Amino acid sequence: MSFALPFLVIFAAGAFAAYHRLRLAVWAALAITLLVAAWLLGASPVASAIAAALVALVAVPLLVPALRKPLLTAPALGFLRKALPPLSQTEKIALETGSVGFEGDLFSGKPDWNKLLAYPKPQLSAEEQAFLDGPVEELCKRINDWEITHVHADLPPELWDFIKQNKFFGMIIPKQYGGLGFSALAHHKVIQKIASISSVVSATVGVPNSLGPGELINHYGTQQQKDYYLPRLAIGQEVPCFGLTGPFAGSDATSIPDFGIVCKGEWNGANVLGLRLTFDKRYITLAPVSTLIGLAFRMYDPEGLIGDTRDIGITLALLPRDTEGVDVGRRHFPLNSPFQNGPVRGKEVFIPLSQLIGGVDMAGKGWNMLNECLAVGRSITLPSTASGGAKAGAVVTGAYARIRKQFGLPVGRFEGVEEALARIGGKAYAISALSQATAAAVDRGDVPSVPSAIAKYHCTNAGRDIAKDIMDVIGGKGIILGPRNFAGRSWQAAPIAITVEGANIMTRSLLIFGQGSILCHPYILKEMRAAQDPDAKAGLEALDGALYAHVGGAISNAVRSFWLGLTGSRLQATAGDAYTKKFFRKLNRYAANLALLTDVSLGALGGRLKFKESLSGRLGDVLSHLYMMGAVLKRHHDEGCPEADKPLLAWAFHNSAYEIELALSQALRNFPIKPLGWLLWPVVFPLGRRAVAPGDRLSHRVAMLLMAPNEARERLASGVFLTPGEHNPGGRINSYLAKAILAEPVERKFLKALKTRDIEALDFASQLDEGVREGWITAEERKQLEELHAITLDTITVDDFDAHELRAASYYDNRADDGRRAVA
Ligand SMILES: Cc1cc2nc3c(=O)[nH]c(=O)nc-3n(C[C@H](O)[C@H](O)[C@H](O)COP(=O)(O)OP(=O)(O)OC[C@H]3O[C@@H](n4cnc5c(N)ncnc54)[C@H](O)[C@@H]3O)c2cc1C
Repeated sequence: MSFALPFLVIFAAGAFAAYHRLRLAVWAALAITLLVAAWLLGASPVASAIAAALVALVAVPLLVPALRKPLLTAPALGFLRKALPPLSQTEKIALETGSVGFEGDLFSGKPDWNKLLAYPKPQLSAEEQAFLDGPVEELCKRINDWEITHVHADLPPELWDFIKQNKFFGMIIPKQYGGLGFSALAHHKVIQKIASISSVVSATVGVPNSLGPGELINHYGTQQQKDYYLPRLAIGQEVPCFGLTGPFAGSDATSIPDFGIVCKGEWNGANVLGLRLTFDKRYITLAPVSTLIGLAFRMYDPEGLIGDTRDIGITLALLPRDTEGVDVGRRHFPLNSPFQNGPVRGKEVFIPLSQLIGGVDMAGKGWNMLNECLAVGRSITLPSTASGGAKAGAVVTGAYARIRKQFGLPVGRFEGVEEALARIGGKAYAISALSQATAAAVDRGDVPSVPSAIAKYHCTNAGRDIAKDIMDVIGGKGIILGPRNFAGRSWQAAPIAITVEGANIMTRSLLIFGQGSILCHPYILKEMRAAQDPDAKAGLEALDGALYAHVGGAISNAVRSFWLGLTGSRLQATAGDAYTKKFFRKLNRYAANLALLTDVSLGALGGRLKFKESLSGRLGDVLSHLYMMGAVLKRHHDEGCPEADKPLLAWAFHNSAYEIELALSQALRNFPIKPLGWLLWPVVFPLGRRAVAPGDRLSHRVAMLLMAPNEARERLASGVFLTPGEHNPGGRINSYLAKAILAEPVERKFLKALKTRDIEALDFASQLDEGVREGWITAEERKQLEELHAITLDTITVDDFDAHELRAASYYDNRADDGRRAVA
């Protein structure tokens, strides 16, 4: 023991220093002090001397720059220069256009949750709140989604007018140009509320406020373009669309074959320098009704009319709809969710150079411009749409499951249904926090490229899961389409959100971790830049600054992973209150795991990591769930840690913890270099994989919470449109819940009487008469039962139609002689 003690001492000092991220010099001083103490207490002097020499061997070259730089940093720089593949232009742009917020802390492996909790609580201004309570509420009341989706396959003209007049298209346009100049939070809340009643209307409002002419002109437009277009866009005098995608360029949008050649041509009677554009775009939202088409294409100047560069690169222009040669107006039909969407084509369409967004100065910078603006739009439109549908769907389905009875019980009481209800509630709770968090990040001035990809992927994916569970819980009521169906259209439309703004498979497996691991990692980008710095001396200095901090961080993350895994994350001080501390502690462990695996993956695979999409996808899942739980806990604290929300919070947390451990275990089991996976397993899971999916008792509590009025349910439903009305079947069902519950004891008493007594009446009304006559129920209770019957009937009734009402009238009109002509 006396011989081993000094080595144990330096190991323990190293582990302690690594865990607490102490500086190397502190570790060395601590180790030497402890070695002296051990020697004085009787440890072997030889072993003490060897251990001290080891400490010096590690510390001296690392602490003395004159030794460190030539001996260690220079060879490391040489290695990195060879090992790191040069970044492509597209990758450089993607990395340069985002900013790093709290997600950067997650990659450090030791997040400062107090920093997250200290961010100001997101708040609407009085004007924004008034807009939500006024025009947004009114718009929702006017929406008849069935008429939009089935009868008109479009918004009726008066709804278009209402939207334009109230500047719904101008939420992101500054007030000085006549727009509403709203915060991202307000924008999120508006889309969320509209989406809770109609995804067609939310897409219609969402697009002009997302990546497209409005935002691009606002950021990059010439003053002339701003002065002319922004006021017109704000009031809907111009309807914008943005065309990037084409038949040969979908996910890989940089490969667009559409081109514009610089040439002379005629514009408004004058001979000017311009572009002859040839393009074929598809899937373009609002294109059929647009008046101003934003277009992405590759610009060429073969005759050198504006400079020496022939291939200028991706460029963005504004194309007025009535420009000669523009072919627009035909429509696609996206999954029975008929927002305006269609192709835009043109051959040799001439526009002057003044139509380039930002003018000639911005020619060739289109990809930068799109990337810079993408993060903001992607943070809001789709996450808020998913959140609105999920929040409303959760409470309405809860009410339905309480009112709808089978086998003498509300269907929501059956354990199988409870499970589905819990998933609906827990996921709706989580994604609503996530979508609000990304909007709040935009308002803090971030360009949240990684969080926006997380929010886009997880909100839309969970939105689809929720839509599926809703359909299962409500059975035939969801399947039979018609004005009374509150769920069918959301189910149909779910894959649209999955596909647009970066299809989800690619977003998960390529973008979230691929971009996050480089952009948000505390050292990787600095090291890459250092390795690629043409000035070798500057590169050496920069690498020297980053490399040792990185190595120290990696050792710390390994120690933290092991220790936090071994102790179940219990022995550490962290943020939170008595209830949430345990969640933050677990997240600390998973953050250390993520940081460790990131370093090992990048170190072992280098540039090959971007082709290992399964690994990237799984580490992306870990990052995403960490970020999402941060958002959930932040909102819980912002709302004063309400006791009533605990089942939702706990369900969401346990689900994420389970997903995180699943992703970590799959990443390790399938690690591309198998032995590394085996070595890492005991460090990440010293006690094995222990997180389990939310248990049945917790699921029961969440399901119960959705099926009765309470403050947690109310909070979950806040910000969505539940005002009961003729065209809001979900709002009606939700409004019946309290009355239905009040009538339950009377119903039970009445049903028992029906079973146990000899009753002659067969129809409901006569049975009630007999009940009152025989004294089983009072006249007041009879009224309650009648009301319950009416409520139940409205809740469960589905629509039926005359045959002609289901035909597409124009289709049969065109085939008038086939005997099936529509009567409508
Ligand atoms: C209703 C609708 C509205 C739209 N609105 C607009 C609009 O207004 N403007 C506009 O410009 N575009 C618009 N789009 C286009 C949309 O952004 C594209 O559909 C999307 O980029 C995917 O392209 P794609 O459909 O061709 O799929 P593909 O690119 O063919 O992808 C097919 C599958 O392969 C996966 N995949 C592709 N590459 C990778 C990879 N490297 N790693 C992993 N998986 C990968 C994708 O995730 C997807 O699952 C819209 C699309 C739809 C359907």
